[in-house]
Amino acid sequence: MLEDGAKPGEAGPIAPEVFNAGGASPVLLVCEHASNVIPERYGDLGLSSDELTSHVAWDPGADVVARSVATHLDAALVAARVSRLVYDCNRPPGASGAMPEKSEVFEIPGNKNLTEAQKSERIENIYLPFKDKLSSVISGSEQLKVMVTVHSFTPVYFGGQRDLHIGILHDSDSRLADAMLQTAADFTSLDVRRNEPYGPQDGVTHTLIEHGLHHDLLNVMIEVRNDLLALEQDQQIIADLLAKWIAAACEKVGVPLSGDLLGGSLSGGASGGASGTGKATSCPQ
Ligand SMILES: [Zn+2]
Repeated sequence: MLEDGAKPGEAGPIAPEVFNAGGASPVLLVCEHASNVIPERYGDLGLSSDELTSHVAWDPGADVVARSVATHLDAALVAARVSRLVYDCNRPPGASGAMPEKSEVFEIPGNKNLTEAQKSERIENIYLPFKDKLSSVISGSEQLKVMVTVHSFTPVYFGGQRDLHIGILHDSDSRLADAMLQTAADFTSLDVRRNEPYGPQDGVTHTLIEHGLHHDLLNVMIEVRNDLLALEQDQQIIADLLAKWIAAACEKVGVPLSGDLLGGSLSGGASGGASGTGKATSCPQ
């Protein structure tokens, strides 16, 4: 379901999409890097079409996985509709990565030497609508107790190979992350690590702090290596895994989910890892 507000190609505020807004789950899903859309008013930021469809502009596969998990859990999902290169909704205004001039090894010409007015326009039309919508979804629900943000990351970063498959990230409240790490082996033999490949020191926990900690929601940020999400079938395998795993972790922290997620209503698992064959791509978070 698309919420009201301007479409990405139009001027004015661009609200995030709220998918399955009436979901009954106590879990809220968030995907800040769901979209690679550059609204027309920003041109192409000086990037090639290849760059604009690559990891530079978004988290490949994250949106599909987040939607599938939301469906499995009957959870609402708040997903950005604008590329993080225009404004990274997981960064507060003033952060160097909010409107990055460089992303990993990629220069972003259209973000060089932005005026204060240009920065303010992006903050007001992209960041604040995202922040306000997410806040209103949380404040407008008495059932929500958990927030899970879904991301993907590159297998190769600054030329180095990353071995881990899934990162479980947290800020000062580690309860849900602890539960996920403690139950990981029950669901997968993938390489799962705490606060890798990023952590709070990298500034990636803004949404967790702003919307999880400040609203007293249990919270965790999940990072999946994006070569595990290259194929549609792999995305579904990972989504099934995450749905069951999140349900088990929620149960462990005292938030039981309804339904029969652990009893076999979801098929498969990702014990050996999805067989993604996509090219090595990158997400700075
Ligand atoms: Zn991300």
